[in-house]
Amino acid sequence: MDEKFLGKISDKSSEENFSAIPDGYKKGKTKYVIITGSVISGIGKGIFSSALGKTLQDRGLKVAPIKVEAYLNIDSGTLSPYRHGEVFVLDDGMETDMDLGSYERFLNMDLTKDNFTTHGQIYQKIITKERKGEYNGRDVQYIPHVTGETKMVLRNLAMKSNADLVLIEIGGTVGDYENLFAMESVRELIYEEGAQNACLINLTYILEPSHLGEFKSKAAQLGLRQLMSLGLQPDVIVCRSQRPVTETIKEKISMNANVPLERVFNTYDVGNIYELPLFYREQGIDEAILQVMGLEKKFPKDGSATLKEWTNKNIVKYKGEITIGIAGKYTGTSDTYISIVKALEHCSAVLKTKINVKWIETTDIEKGKSDVKEALKGVNGIIVPGGFGTRGVEGKIAVVKYVRENNMPFLGICYGFQMAVIEFARNVCGIKNASTEEVKKDPPNNVICILPEQEEVEGLGGTLRLGGFDVKIVRGTKAYELYGKKEHVRERFRHRFNVNTKFIEMLEKGGLVFSGKAPSKKIMQILELPRHPFFIGTQYHAEFTSKPLNPNPIYFGLVKAAIENKK
Ligand code: GLN
Repeated sequence: MDEKFLGKISDKSSEENFSAIPDGYKKGKTKYVIITGSVISGIGKGIFSSALGKTLQDRGLKVAPIKVEAYLNIDSGTLSPYRHGEVFVLDDGMETDMDLGSYERFLNMDLTKDNFTTHGQIYQKIITKERKGEYNGRDVQYIPHVTGETKMVLRNLAMKSNADLVLIEIGGTVGDYENLFAMESVRELIYEEGAQNACLINLTYILEPSHLGEFKSKAAQLGLRQLMSLGLQPDVIVCRSQRPVTETIKEKISMNANVPLERVFNTYDVGNIYELPLFYREQGIDEAILQVMGLEKKFPKDGSATLKEWTNKNIVKYKGEITIGIAGKYTGTSDTYISIVKALEHCSAVLKTKINVKWIETTDIEKGKSDVKEALKGVNGIIVPGGFGTRGVEGKIAVVKYVRENNMPFLGICYGFQMAVIEFARNVCGIKNASTEEVKKDPPNNVICILPEQEEVEGLGGTLRLGGFDVKIVRGTKAYELYGKKEHVRERFRHRFNVNTKFIEMLEKGGLVFSGKAPSKKIMQILELPRHPFFIGTQYHAEFTSKPLNPNPIYFGLVKAAIENKK
């Protein structure tokens, strides 16, 4: 296949009033690695893609990741954290699946909306065009229009990022109806780009039923057959299992899926995700992928020194341990707070301190099912994370009261920041019924109220105050010290409510310090209590910008204070 072929496609598509080739696109300049999953959902494609990206990046390749979600939501903003885990927020305000957080952390990149697409976005684009009459009488169809718009997103990312590789993670599992068109889109992409310019990976699961005590590869074989029935021939297969699989299993997989044995790999539980990039290197996964695309000579192995160093710095020998409590209402699933857990991990590695997380269910405290003092026993620091709605609010406020009065290190994130303001208003400033407009519609003592810019907003999708904004830090405060005496930092937000300006003076008189503010608006963004060992709240989510070996300063401060508390 050569350039002419792509040309032909665009000619043909112009009859269809549609082209899937961006202007100026050069085939082969950027190559594509596509990651699909089979047998089960939750196989760990996100972590696999991120860690593999890191391995490839380490060889000098510029990698641009993208997650293709099959659902019809435009973004992840309205999804329940119970079902989908945390909603991650990018600097440009896109609300995404938590895998994007994983990409940013492993690849040490700040991503944008170009790195995340959903079928909802694709269909919205198509339907908008159709309403404008842009298809000139042509009926709008799944092929070429849905597949075409999907390819367009992928190729646009290739062009915009100027990457060597676009790393595409297809959400869902092979065999889902939902991702059928995503699968068809990558089939077309691989065909049009040419075999040398793409590498299709399938991450499959090898069962090991406990009553048999041996590995069974049939489910994986069927998953792979299903993939091939879609016209997709994998180039590389990665068998995921709990323990290392036998050679026979790999041989069966190889034979059944037309993939040479050298390109069938096995990843199993390694205990620590920071081991994965080097583990993939040692298995030869990156080498095999680059060989498929003829890139192995252009990006030779470098002896892995830098990757080893990265691994060693992230997996350290601990000198001590502490416990941090996370007091929220979604504590049943730790994925809900995954970026917080990762931000703590980043501090843990740098401070060589093991951090145990204790989940504290604030709904139980609220209902009187558990006692605050009892719940915080053995905890050296506490985080009250972000949240929405009424449930668990009084429990959170009770936790804040306890840590404030007992000098326990405290970090309030977003809703947690707002809870700290309410608690302070009630118990220090004496406004007994202080609350938030989110809970009580309009009593006069709502110290937290809707942001002025949010008053006219209708609907829930993508309408919060979202993404990166500047925070102006007040000199001489704890926040100023934590951020290394910087007067301006950029952090990521996701909220609709904020400190009611009518109460700022009163709160400040009571002793609360607003040490971070929006530069040109009266939005309070950091609060602190000067005489408390560590009492900080941030209206933003400091966890979203924390990176391995470069923890967010606010989290770093909390963990250091918790280490002191333990002493
Ligand atoms: N519910 C609060 C608001 O909308 C806090 C949001 C959050 O914690 N992310 O302002």
